[in-house]
Amino acid sequence: MPTYEYFCSACKKPFEAKASIADYSKGLNPVCPHCGARKAIRTFTSLNVLTAKRDARTRSGGGCGPGCACR
Ligand SMILES: [Zn+2]
Repeated sequence: MPTYEYFCSACKKPFEAKASIADYSKGLNPVCPHCGARKAIRTFTSLNVLTAKRDARTRSGGGCGPGCACR
């Protein structure tokens, strides 16, 4: 079952919701596990990109290379 990433606009915390594709296509409105509100905003690519970048830097020992201004 795929996991969808959400950001709660009530308590400003991210969370993940598992749902089938069928449920998701019907319009998923998950309850925030932190505060119980149904004010979730779907956040997929941006959050995944940030996580992937951090993982890549961790694996390479930090930094992109000589001359990189990222650290
Ligand atoms: Zn919340």
